[in-house]
Amino acid sequence: MSFWIGVDVGGTNIVCGIVNEKGEVLDSIKKPTQAFLGTSSVLDHMAQMVLEIIDKTGLSGKVGGIGIGIPGLVNPWDGIALYSANLNWRDVPLSAELSRRTSLPVYIDNDVRMYVYGEAVYGAGQGDDYVLGLTVGTGIASASVNRGQLHYGYQNLAGEIGHGTMDGEFAPCGCGFKGCLEASASASGMVREAKRMIAEGRQSLLSEWFPGEELQNLSAADISKAMDAGDALATEIMNHAGELLGKALVPAVHLLSPQTIIIGGGGAMAKERLLTPLRRMLMSRLLPDFRQHVSIKPAVLGDDAGVIGSAMQAKQRHEID
Ligand SMILES: [Zn+2]
Repeated sequence: MSFWIGVDVGGTNIVCGIVNEKGEVLDSIKKPTQAFLGTSSVLDHMAQMVLEIIDKTGLSGKVGGIGIGIPGLVNPWDGIALYSANLNWRDVPLSAELSRRTSLPVYIDNDVRMYVYGEAVYGAGQGDDYVLGLTVGTGIASASVNRGQLHYGYQNLAGEIGHGTMDGEFAPCGCGFKGCLEASASASGMVREAKRMIAEGRQSLLSEWFPGEELQNLSAADISKAMDAGDALATEIMNHAGELLGKALVPAVHLLSPQTIIIGGGGAMAKERLLTPLRRMLMSRLLPDFRQHVSIKPAVLGDDAGVIGSAMQAKQRHEID
């Protein structure tokens, strides 16, 4: 039995877990990223976490390698983190630096690809050959897994479904365009829309729960809660986001023909509140042959998906090397 380390690096926290060959997390630790301390400090910190978890589980000598998911652009094959706004990283030779600090082989990839790989092979997509996964959180991104292999595209850029332009949407997006799926249907887009509608004088439980300045603290989870309490504004926002996701998935399904679509990230927590309007819109616009075979599911692994995906990608790539 060999063991693999999965590291999920976020702007706020780093999660480091140790995973067996079956994709089961044996133990994990979570610590703040503290990107403001600088790149080499974050790298030292990551290496310490890896060594700590190996020590804690007594598996020294049995670990095959490390997989790391990074938010942003990466060159997985050279092990370079090309650009990450969250970490303020540019051209960081991550694989080489971590390998030097831990004496283990290191494989890196984009965090969404690692997350979707985990869900596709060991989570909601287990047993399915063609899986498309979306993460709906602060942003929206996607990855696809065909017969156990991730799709990368030229220059490893595949998966930017969040920046598809949506008809009738005009909200400015972080990418510089207006009307992107991500600007309207992400968790942050839903929150922004709720605040805008309340400022326009719309009645909602949300303005009772968060009066005046407190509205700053509104989260997407509160929109779910208000929807459960029968709030019309929250229901409208959730339905709209679900319908936009459904519309954006129409060309993706026709292009890729997945059998399973997994909705992950914070969007997984909205469950059927988001998935019902998404499914309704998607199914109404798919060609019949696609409609019959595609199913839409929420992610099931939670925070473990990134750790499992990273660790199991390390295993897969190590076996090919
Ligand atoms: Zn955009």
